[in-house]
Amino acid sequence: MVERQERLPARDEVDEVAPGIGRIQLPIMIPGLGHVNCYVLEDERGVALVDPGMPDPWTHQVLIERLRSIDIAPEHIHTVLVTHSHPDHFGGAGRLRVEHRCEVVAHRRFHTPFDPSPDPFADDLTELTVATDPLEPGGDDDRPRNERLAEVLFGEGPMPEVPPRPTPWGEEGFKPGPGELEAMRAWDDLSKQGLLRLDPTVRVDDLEVLRLGGREWQVVHTPGHTGDHICLLDPADGTFLSGDHVLPTITPHISGMTGDDDPLAEFVAALHRVAALDVVTRVLPAHGLPFDDLAGRVDDIIGHHVERIAQLERLGQELGDATVRDYSRRLFQERSWGPMAESETYAHLLHLQHEGRMAVRTDEDARLRYRPVPA
Ligand SMILES: [Zn+2]
Ligand SMILES: [Zn+2]
Repeated sequence: MVERQERLPARDEVDEVAPGIGRIQLPIMIPGLGHVNCYVLEDERGVALVDPGMPDPWTHQVLIERLRSIDIAPEHIHTVLVTHSHPDHFGGAGRLRVEHRCEVVAHRRFHTPFDPSPDPFADDLTELTVATDPLEPGGDDDRPRNERLAEVLFGEGPMPEVPPRPTPWGEEGFKPGPGELEAMRAWDDLSKQGLLRLDPTVRVDDLEVLRLGGREWQVVHTPGHTGDHICLLDPADGTFLSGDHVLPTITPHISGMTGDDDPLAEFVAALHRVAALDVVTRVLPAHGLPFDDLAGRVDDIIGHHVERIAQLERLGQELGDATVRDYSRRLFQERSWGPMAESETYAHLLHLQHEGRMAVRTDEDARLRYRPVPA
């Protein structure tokens, strides 16, 4: 089996991966991933960090130690840029903002999935209005789920229940386990706040230019993995910070939870768009090692999804009429079964539905069932 670079444990060394760009690898506790890359962009004002890792105090300590090892004091951090709203990327930003008053830059639609406050951008964003709706009530407690999560984290006494996230396909969605919740409850308040919400001080849009690390970076909005994902391109030497949009040896997760009509098509369009940036010479991903052939890697990722779509159509012929869970359990190996696999399967089924190749109905248990449309 191929050793996935993204699974390797975090290195202790800080490496220079492009002229003037350092890479710190931070440990993360996410299945299938061993580290997240935090890029350090140095300029005359100090440093900017891209993706400062998880919100817990230990990650922060590692980050500060690594910076000190290359003679950078934390008070020299003037900017933190986050590529998207996943906690291994934005988590550390809140503390850096509070402790060092740095700017926090993110896409204009940035909103964390755990934020107890309503999403102010939901109105102009169809993709966040349905499935990620944090206001979805559950059980006999009709307070928003994220409000209850905040209470669990900050509360005392026995651990109250956090309901699973509702899914559009009618099965139970992601729910933090009791061990995870206990661990997070032991965090300090800044870490808990850092997990729940982050208010960027600078919100950027596609094609905006940011001056960081003595370079002029062009923002490239790349929805799919999340709706608010951005990459950064320095056209002067072709350096490209790809976040989780393009990873070297694993295919980024496509979320079926964005509420968008066809998140897979959106992701594929954003892949074609970055593959067409022919100035790119060096890709710096958020997990794994730098690589050069962006267009080649995009081809592989698109090929993987084309194959998945073909597999689903064959399964449709065999199963006739089946739930998203049924499809996902045939598509994924048993060790991967669960809400993530179902979410990705659902994104592919939505695409087939959007193309008129699959039809959908809701069954008596409020689950969606997909069947092929005869050609
Ligand atoms: Zn991510
Ligand atoms: Zn990631």
